[in-house]
Amino acid sequence: VPELIEVEIYRQQALAVVGRRIAELDAADGWYLKGGLTASTLETDLVGGLVAGARRIGKLLLLDVEPCADEVTGVDGRRSGLRTGLTVGLRFGMTGRLVVDGEAAIEQLLYTTSRHNRVHERFAATFEDGTSLVMVDPRRLGGVELEPDTDRLGPDAAAISDREFSEALRGSAVAVKARLLDQRRVAGVGNLIADEVLWRAGVRPTRTSGSLEPDDVVELAGVLRATIRTLQQRGGSHMGDLQAERHVEGRCPRDGARLQRCEVGGRTTYWCRVHQR
Ligand SMILES: [Zn+2]
Repeated sequence: VPELIEVEIYRQQALAVVGRRIAELDAADGWYLKGGLTASTLETDLVGGLVAGARRIGKLLLLDVEPCADEVTGVDGRRSGLRTGLTVGLRFGMTGRLVVDGEAAIEQLLYTTSRHNRVHERFAATFEDGTSLVMVDPRRLGGVELEPDTDRLGPDAAAISDREFSEALRGSAVAVKARLLDQRRVAGVGNLIADEVLWRAGVRPTRTSGSLEPDDVVELAGVLRATIRTLQQRGGSHMGDLQAERHVEGRCPRDGARLQRCEVGGRTTYWCRVHQR
C-alpha cells in the first residue's frame, strides 16, 4: 500500500537523520536484504558513515551515506570501511513503515497492523547520538538494497513532464491503468492513485494507452500531478474522493452511477461506466 505519497512522507521523516553518523546496523533478517547484500557487508560498508541525504524516486527511498571527514575519531575509535559515498535503497512493499526516533509518521496503513511489533523490525540503523531509523514490515514484502539500480525506474509521477508522460504511454496496446502501474514507465503510482487519477480524468482504465489522443495524454499528465498534490496535502494515497466507494455497492461520487469492479493490471479496479470513457 505505500505509494509515492506515503514514501514521500517517509522521506520527509528521514530528513531528520541527515547529518547523523551511523553507529550500528541491525539487519538480522537476511531475507530482507536484496541484491546479494549481507548483514556483514552492510555493517562493514556503512557503520561510521554519515547520512548525507534522503531522496525518493517513485516508491523507492534512497539514503545517501558519505564517509566521515573525521572518521579516525569515530565511534569507539573505529574507522569506517566507507571510502566513497554509497546509497541505501529502502523498498516498503505492501506493509512497510518507517519509524524514526521511535515515531511512525504514518501510524496506520491500510491492510496492516499499526501495532509496532519488534518481531517485524527488518532493518534498523542506530546513530551515534542514540537515535534510530527502523523499518517495520509485518509481511516482509519490502527490502533493503545497496546501490539500487534506479535506471529501471521511470520518471517520478509527482514531477513527470508532459513529454515524459506521453513517452510512457505512447503507442501501447496495454491498458492505460496497467501502464500507470508499471514502475519502469511511471514511478510511484500504486492501485489507489491510479484509480483516483483515471476517475478524475474521466478515462476508462481498460482503454489502451495508445488510443488516447495527444491532448488527452497531456490532460491526464496534469490530472496525475494535481491528484498527487491533493492526496499529499490530505496525507495519504487512501484520501481520494473515490476511496469511500471502493466496495461492491459503491457509486460514482460525480454522477451516482453504480461503479464497475474488475481486474486491470492484476489489481482490483473501480471505475464509472458513465463518465470514464
Ligand atoms: Zn461517474
